[in-house]
Amino acid sequence: MTGSPTVAIGALGGTIASTSSADDGSEIVPTLTADRLAAAVPGLAEIATVRAETLAQLPSPSLDEPTILRTLAWARAAVDAGAEGVVVTQGTDTLEESAYLLDLFWDRPEPLVVTGAMRSAQAVGADGPANLLTAVRCATAPASRDRGVLVAFDDEIHHARWVAKTDSASTGAFRSPVFGPIGRCVEAEVVYGVPPARVSPLRLPSAQAVGDPRIPLVATYLGDDGYVLDAIRVGAGQSAGVDGVVVAGFGAGHVSARAAEAVGRLAREVPVVFASRTGSGPTGRAIYGYPGSEIDLVARGAVGAGWLPPVKARLLLWALALGGPVTRADVAAEFERRGRP
Ligand code: ASP
Repeated sequence: MTGSPTVAIGALGGTIASTSSADDGSEIVPTLTADRLAAAVPGLAEIATVRAETLAQLPSPSLDEPTILRTLAWARAAVDAGAEGVVVTQGTDTLEESAYLLDLFWDRPEPLVVTGAMRSAQAVGADGPANLLTAVRCATAPASRDRGVLVAFDDEIHHARWVAKTDSASTGAFRSPVFGPIGRCVEAEVVYGVPPARVSPLRLPSAQAVGDPRIPLVATYLGDDGYVLDAIRVGAGQSAGVDGVVVAGFGAGHVSARAAEAVGRLAREVPVVFASRTGSGPTGRAIYGYPGSEIDLVARGAVGAGWLPPVKARLLLWALALGGPVTRADVAAEFERRGRP
């Protein structure tokens, strides 16, 4: 390789790109282009040749799956055009979801690194430039290859599959519960504590076959009588209905006895996956036997998400349903493969 590596930076908006026109710095909105984000990082030009592109200027709660699939296509094209690594900047609120959706389909050895910021561009101690620098270092490091999609934040490197935003305000908001970060960026060096490993990516259906499945996420709660699940079932299987449902259950994925009956009714119509709402740890397999337990929910036709938290389980089910209806057996097999380290 001669000269500095080429990195494509795609900006989607978020706090990292947000500015305020008010005197007191309030009411920030995404305004900065990818070029401006790159220009704000001291020394970036010395470590990489940057190709910056503004893909969207959205707050991340308004991103959606089609936008992320377009981002995936842009990232692939950037690699095809010679980029040695790709960085996507976006809002932190949904970053763990975008990164995971990209990871499900990222079929290149080149690193794709997602980052953002907790403080806006004009804030004192803005963390965006530091995070972007870390992300570019990560995207250009040979040790980052063959690891799928990574999240670089606060000098740590996380795998997209396990990272989560765990704080609404801290600059150290991103953690990988249970498994921890897989690497660090220290004194400009990118260091990994584990060798490259990943589950093979899913195949993206052809453009004509790509749908936009509706997969709601339903949280259970004390006294849940299955009302929401039954309300969803009314539309299940119809064109305006749902293509699958993820339930964020108590503890190891449990629901109440009455909600379990609603799960059973729904699972006869569409795939139903149960995950743990705790934010850490897997769904149970064979411990509890009461109505609403993991054993009971599986007997009623639902599938355990394994170690995937509810939002990522929802994206996996969405990705599986992208090319059309999927069978319970296919859903179970994919969660078995992708729901564990
Ligand atoms: N608070 C968010 C952020 O950190 C806003 C967003 O997600 O766009 O970027």
